[in-house]
Amino acid sequence: MTTMAILTDVTRCIGCEECVSACRRTNDTGSDAPYRWQGGVNDLSSTRWTTLVETGNRNVRLHCRHCLDPACAAACPVGALSRTEAGAVAYNPVICMGCRYCMVACPFAMTRYEWESATPRVRKCILCYDKIKAGELSQPACTAACPTEATIFGDREALLAEARSRIAAAPQRYIDHIWGEHEVGGTSVLTISDVDLTDARWPDDLGTGSRPELARKVLHTVPYTFFGVAGLMYGVHWTLERRRQVAAAEGPTAATADPGDEVQRNEEES
Ligand code: SF4
Ligand code: SF4
Ligand code: SF4
Repeated sequence: MTTMAILTDVTRCIGCEECVSACRRTNDTGSDAPYRWQGGVNDLSSTRWTTLVETGNRNVRLHCRHCLDPACAAACPVGALSRTEAGAVAYNPVICMGCRYCMVACPFAMTRYEWESATPRVRKCILCYDKIKAGELSQPACTAACPTEATIFGDREALLAEARSRIAAAPQRYIDHIWGEHEVGGTSVLTISDVDLTDARWPDDLGTGSRPELARKVLHTVPYTFFGVAGLMYGVHWTLERRRQVAAAEGPTAATADPGDEVQRNEEES
């Protein structure tokens, strides 16, 4: 099955925020709420699932990267987040219990919480998955709204080919890198740019291994570590106990006898 994806070309973005408005309208997220715990009214929030970050003279889109092996889904104890066959990482608010493990696990810090709500949900871009699946949309609202096709929707492999072709055609224009091709095992949101995305909140220490895979490897070592430490503790206990038994069998020695006994013996002998 093809994996649907978004490719954003930072060099084509004019900063009009049509994508932001289209997302808000289509997903009925409500108006921006400038709460003091937000980074600012233009930052990602429970009502703003995509936004722009100014970097140099460019605007870089932020929204959930739709990781191929999403750490948020792996961290969720009830399966409220899950990767769909089509590539979107979807969210089910009905079973979400609000633990926010997904927010801690996300390597891109893309999820937001409805702190202002009495019944809070986790909010993030869902790749317009529900509306595309229902046939209401043929592509995400943000990509459809972009007037310059700076952000486009399609099959991930086809978009990777498109990204490579643009970089090859204008190597002086682009940094030779496709953000999201390999990081954390790959994402369904790809970006090409002439500015370094680490200046636009792209973490610079992601690596190429998927986060859940790394977690699984660490967890795999837990039993060995546990039994290793337990074995060491048992060894220490056995040695101390053995020494105690030997000492008890031999009676008090010079090293362990009370010095007062020695003084008393000397006095009796003299
Ligand atoms: S970017 Fe974060 S929230 Fe989005 S799929 Fe990846 S881990 Fe989940
Ligand atoms: S894909 Fe849909 S949910 Fe995600 S930012 Fe675009 S419009 Fe919003
Ligand atoms: S709609 Fe297109 S050009 Fe406008 S801000 Fe969004 S990505 Fe940039």
